[in-house]
Amino acid sequence: MTPFDDHPHEECAVFGIYGHPEAANLTYLGLYALQHRGQESSGIVASDGERVHSEVGMGHVADVFTEARLDKLKGHLAIGHNRYSTAGQSHITNAQPFMVTYSRGIMALGHNGNLVNAGDLRRELEATGSIFRSTTDSEVILHLVARSLEQETEGAIVDALNRLEGAFTLIMMTRDKLIGVRDPYGFRPLVLGRMGEPGGGTIWVLASETCALDLIEATFVREVAPGEMIVVDEEGLHSLFPFPPATPTQCIFEFIYFARPDSYIFGENVYTVRRQLGVELARENPVEADIVIPVPDSGLAAALGFSAESGLPLEWGLVRNHYVGRTFIEPQQSIRHFGVKVKLNPMRAYLEGKRVVVVDDSIVRGTTSRKIVEMIRKAGAAEVHMRISSPPITHPCFFGIDMPTRKELIASAKSVEETRLHLNADSLAYLSLEGLLRCVHPRGGEFCTACFTGSYPIPVHRVEPQLWLFQELKASEHRA
Ligand code: SF4
Repeated sequence: MTPFDDHPHEECAVFGIYGHPEAANLTYLGLYALQHRGQESSGIVASDGERVHSEVGMGHVADVFTEARLDKLKGHLAIGHNRYSTAGQSHITNAQPFMVTYSRGIMALGHNGNLVNAGDLRRELEATGSIFRSTTDSEVILHLVARSLEQETEGAIVDALNRLEGAFTLIMMTRDKLIGVRDPYGFRPLVLGRMGEPGGGTIWVLASETCALDLIEATFVREVAPGEMIVVDEEGLHSLFPFPPATPTQCIFEFIYFARPDSYIFGENVYTVRRQLGVELARENPVEADIVIPVPDSGLAAALGFSAESGLPLEWGLVRNHYVGRTFIEPQQSIRHFGVKVKLNPMRAYLEGKRVVVVDDSIVRGTTSRKIVEMIRKAGAAEVHMRISSPPITHPCFFGIDMPTRKELIASAKSVEETRLHLNADSLAYLSLEGLLRCVHPRGGEFCTACFTGSYPIPVHRVEPQLWLFQELKASEHRA
């Protein structure tokens, strides 16, 4: 999967901290480390126990937070969120954390994942008077909490969350509590860390991935378990399991592409798994060639594994321009069609006359992979063999990963041989599902592999009309 237009997008990042006098500054750093999980908007809410302040904006963490904005975020408690829109429009009203004032006080929330029953819940809430300010499924959660008949905040949250179906890793706060939740299936990761004690008490940290703990020098304690809710307040940390039991099905794609390679999630180091995918790929699909090259950066770890297992030398055959933003606009018609060349440049001296194995982590539409093969051929390669360190993606994700519709997924419409012809590669091979599963070690559950199998751990037959609803909402926003 190339890091450009032809890939499912990262989803969202959450971060929270309790007990540090510079909670917002550390949240800013945590969000910085988690930038890869969402680049459309970023936000922080902080509390000193009395006043709660929120700053959200569109763009990267570094663009949103000036010193002046961070200065306004006072207190020992803060949560943060980086968003990529998987449901709902790219607009400031959808930027999180959401903050509301309601009968029990103030509540803020950041969500990673997608609810499969959001449309039903939203219709039900609207029919009884709720007014929504965003088009995200996440706002539904706040409305459910606000309308719960439970007296206490925790009880109201539990009450609300038990209405949800789908993927939700949540970071929430009130004036004086930090709350982290993983849905019973545990689709998205959430880790718990702690820091030194400058003011006396323990400082607790919650983050999507351990790379955020590393940056702020927090110690990794453990993962928040699927179905667990963690509450931190002045009495310390307590944990509860408020959901009916379910078999965890953590998202295997976090290992393949989404999570940062230096993170530990689902009990394993991401880089180690990713490299092993390349080893398995080489065992399953050997090829006579001269060099192995990664598609940067997504194919790097698997290419290292492929090279180690096959004995073929690894070369830096494609150089990536890291400064091309997602908003890159092709210039005038007359000098158009630079396409993927703006982002990747082949190293002719290393490719000319060579039989080249190109390793990437996945193929989605195939558009960019085709251009890459063409580019390597133009650079003089004698043969181009594509090796993909995951099985063919045949089904969309409904649990928080933004993938194209089924008919746009090349592996859904074409066989491997048809895809090879489309890419104009000399050979094409994917890692098998069995090979993928050999590289990971589920602890007390399974992994979700639905985008490769179509076997969704939660029934998704009600999702399509709901996506419809959100598209309708998007369209009406657009017209307004
Ligand atoms: S469908 Fe694929 S991307 Fe979505 S949660 Fe399952 S494994 Fe992850």
